[in-house]
Amino acid sequence: MPSHTTTVRDLRRSNRSRALWRVFLDGPLTRQEIGADAGLSPATVSNLVADLLAEGVIAEVGLEDSNGGRPRGLLQANPEYGYVIGVDVGESAFLVELFDLGLTMRARHLSATDMPVAETSALDPHDAVTHVANGIRSVIAQAEVDERSILGVGVAVPGLVTRTEDAVVHGQSVGWDAVPVGAMLKDTIDLPVFVDNGAKTLGQAEQWFGAARGTDHAIIVLLGTGLGTCIISNGEVYRGAMGSAGEWGHTTVVVGGRRCRCGANGCLEAYVGAGAIAARYAELKRDEETQCLREGRTPGLHPGGLEGMVTALISSRERDPIAAEVLDEVVTYLGAGIANLVNLFNPERVVVGGWLGRALSDPLLPAIREAAKSNALRLPYSGVQIVKAELGQDAVALGGATLPIARLLNTGAAAPSAAAGLTRRHFSRTLV
Ligand SMILES: [Zn+2]
Repeated sequence: MPSHTTTVRDLRRSNRSRALWRVFLDGPLTRQEIGADAGLSPATVSNLVADLLAEGVIAEVGLEDSNGGRPRGLLQANPEYGYVIGVDVGESAFLVELFDLGLTMRARHLSATDMPVAETSALDPHDAVTHVANGIRSVIAQAEVDERSILGVGVAVPGLVTRTEDAVVHGQSVGWDAVPVGAMLKDTIDLPVFVDNGAKTLGQAEQWFGAARGTDHAIIVLLGTGLGTCIISNGEVYRGAMGSAGEWGHTTVVVGGRRCRCGANGCLEAYVGAGAIAARYAELKRDEETQCLREGRTPGLHPGGLEGMVTALISSRERDPIAAEVLDEVVTYLGAGIANLVNLFNPERVVVGGWLGRALSDPLLPAIREAAKSNALRLPYSGVQIVKAELGQDAVALGGATLPIARLLNTGAAAPSAAAGLTRRHFSRTLV
């Protein structure tokens, strides 16, 4: 049975956590606003704000004019309290960014593997971890911060991440089969490490700072070569039993349909993914290309790669009937896929992101909404907004940085004496 002391301490930590979440996400706020938003009494807020100010977790950043009354102090997270590192492990490149607690980027390191990824479609896990660890050392040196002030490293990876201590990653697109990324990184760097799927970290960034802000039920869909989602349910990322929930790209839209990269047939990704769009265009264009070759012209690959090719296809839709036909199909399948999400999860908002999502949304969002409407049930559709993402693809690393911050806010930023009692091992649990 918990002792009285434990109960009081737990309550105090829970109150600090509620207040800190409000200050972090909505600050600057007055003490009155913190109390109202976090459901805490004025006396409780006054005490815990005094503690948090003394500990340097939050800072007073000015005064609110209160129409002749006593001016009220405005509080926000203290950027200097600590630092976080966000990492985006891509299919061949590694982006590492160091942020202060105000989420201002202080240093950045980008590197790419020099191993032949293209030939094998596989990324060497040891090479990837070495790149990430070097990037982490580089941003700490560039920012000239004390390593002890770093609250943690959040790593966004392409693949499914199991909820284990070692953060085992199953990344089919990079050829990773049960790679213990968390454990490998912890062997290399002495910092708390948190690992999560890239779609989920980007989704969390959209929920904190972007188009899903202010909602407790949102789905952030990421369209690119693959399709991912971050499902926010009751304000939390929905993960499922093993942490793999949200693999929307591999839901079946055509039984026995086109072959998908995952080995199944008829997945949504095989109709809406960038590779599928390029392949369908090439299929419809085949006759025209044959004609080009006959005339001595080489159709060739687009200089911008798959992304450049698909982006060009989207912009050419008004003068190229084949591009228009391909995009009509994409909109139909994407709308059906979004309708499935609306029917299954009843979200308040669906945020369309990722480089392909952003490229499609600019001209086609009204058509995507129509396609979703025609496939969704009327009631859940009447309560959903389908909007474009606000943060770019580079926010995957920012999303990674939200992982150690979430841990800090959830623990109520334990006071230094209490934090010293929590060992590195305690903090190093992966958040997946
Ligand atoms: Zn599939």
